[in-house]
Amino acid sequence: MRESLKQIKSSFPHADLFEFRCDLIRKPDVSSLMRAAKRPCIITYRTVQEGGKYSGSRDELLAHLLTASFLGAHYVDIERRLGLRFLHEFVRRRGDTRVILSRHMCGVPRDVNRVYKDLDVAEADVLKVAYRATGASDIMFAKEFLSLAKKRKRRAMGIAMGEYGEATRVLYRIWGGWATFASSNGGIESAEGQLPVRTMKNIFRADTLNASTRIFGVTGNPLSQSKGIFLHNPLFRQSKTNAVYCRFPVKDVRKFMKKVAPQLSGWSVTIPHKETIIQYLSSLDRTAKEIGAVNTVIRRGKGFRGTNTDAPGALDAIEQVRRVKGKTMLILGAGGAARAIAFEANKRGARVLVANRTERKAQSLARGLKLSAIPWKDIRNVQFDFLVNATSVGMAPKTNAAPITTIPLRGKIVFDAVYNPRDTMLLRQAKRSGARVISGMEMYINQAALQSKYYIGKLPSKATIRRILE
Ligand code: NAP
Repeated sequence: MRESLKQIKSSFPHADLFEFRCDLIRKPDVSSLMRAAKRPCIITYRTVQEGGKYSGSRDELLAHLLTASFLGAHYVDIERRLGLRFLHEFVRRRGDTRVILSRHMCGVPRDVNRVYKDLDVAEADVLKVAYRATGASDIMFAKEFLSLAKKRKRRAMGIAMGEYGEATRVLYRIWGGWATFASSNGGIESAEGQLPVRTMKNIFRADTLNASTRIFGVTGNPLSQSKGIFLHNPLFRQSKTNAVYCRFPVKDVRKFMKKVAPQLSGWSVTIPHKETIIQYLSSLDRTAKEIGAVNTVIRRGKGFRGTNTDAPGALDAIEQVRRVKGKTMLILGAGGAARAIAFEANKRGARVLVANRTERKAQSLARGLKLSAIPWKDIRNVQFDFLVNATSVGMAPKTNAAPITTIPLRGKIVFDAVYNPRDTMLLRQAKRSGARVISGMEMYINQAALQSKYYIGKLPSKATIRRILE
């Protein structure tokens, strides 16, 4: 109870409605909770069978819910599996309380019509379905459920739990949902995948979205390192663009393109899909075509066009320190970032050498762009002016690593594409040995500004981006 009262206080400025999961509170005092909340409340005793902790009898449960009703609860949650007799009995004896009729499932049910029909009971005031998502396309079940409810003018909630379902928590208004759940703070979620209420309101502005809001986002896997939501959402807000930017962790690009992409106006692409995505796009601009990697996708009519803002983003960052024309640049890595940087550096007149742990990939990259590949073991014998780390070594959470450790770097310019952390181990070592260093954060800012231009139609200033990120 003490912890619950603390959580009410901390989320008080943001919450419109409180749900009390009484099954998770030892000796819940419903009356004190509702008094503290000073907002409409939902009283819930989630049973063990549906993933909660309540294990009392049905009669006890009915008694708890009726007590809550007479104490003034605005809503109670009643699980559909308790049966219609239970629901009717509650409705017959309740006060003014409304009913949220709910179903909680482990996986994604096959037939949305059947699930909807089962919940569409006259006595229910809100229909709620929650299930666990295991892939990005699983969010579409929630959308379909909400559109069935919207057509019949019923209030509904459709929630996909887990990180793959995050978008359903944010986009509910766009899809016609009545409400969604958030945690009072990070780390104390009552269901997997809940976002802190501050993030829901201040970052996503989820409660202000509507059917005309355009949906953008980031796809990749994992996405824990991505800062996109913290940048693009504030940029939308500043430019008064009715749009939202969500995280879509994607394992299966084909399924994502078929089911989720049609809902989106554009998205950023990150590891490991920058190359795989190409086969699903209707067109590519010249940069993306020549690089063979896409980091930004924009809707064009019925199809999608791919572009690459990593390439100019990286080189603009490097050239803030020194022009690359006529100089030698050694690039470590042969993935999407390496390709982009190699292409743009070559275009701007640098002599580019590529080295990669898997040599075959360095050779293929070099062949494609007509550059030279160096065996990884020979890196220390190469003369260069610029060193670029385009491998993922040093990236959070494994920050205690650098792709190379024993190369003399005095007088060189060292750029690390890794931006999380800002000060990587490679950059710290390079600085100590007398090199000039450039953080991947500079590339991130440049490429994000260019992406934003595609999303909003206007290039935000770097100072604005820096301020938001800080
Ligand atoms: P990617 O396509 O997955 O390529 C990863 C590269 O890292 C491959 O060349 C891989 O070599 C190499 N690598 C991985 N582990 C290694 C290890 N232990 N030792 C040596 N090499 C290793 O990824 P990407 O999209 O190119 O991204 C690479 C990095 O750039 C990431 O950290 C990403 O966050 C960063 N990035 C930053 C920005 C920015 O705006 N600052 C933009 C894009 C990317 P193998 O081929 O041998 O596996």
